[in-house]
Amino acid sequence: MTSFDSSSFAIPAQASEQWAELTEVLRSTGPAGCESSAMPEAWWSSSLEAEAVAVCRSCPVARECLAYALAAGERDGVWGGFTNAERRGLAQ
Ligand code: SF4
Repeated sequence: MTSFDSSSFAIPAQASEQWAELTEVLRSTGPAGCESSAMPEAWWSSSLEAEAVAVCRSCPVARECLAYALAAGERDGVWGGFTNAERRGLAQ
């Protein structure tokens, strides 16, 4: 993820609680690494995802970010330090 402005995308109803938790924690931590990265495309490109994963690994909201992505069934991008393929493995 590289932007937490929910006006630009829809939050699935089944993930609204996790989204609320994520955005509340972000209010206290400040912008996440993905939001301030000079390479935001890393979160959306399989060839660059290792860069995104490395940033996520030290993110203070990684747990909440992953919880949201799993609840929402996010199929694209790196969330909480996990690629889409890795999230599919966690969901099974
Ligand atoms: S875990 Fe990664 S994608 Fe999620 S908020 Fe943190 S830096 Fe962004």
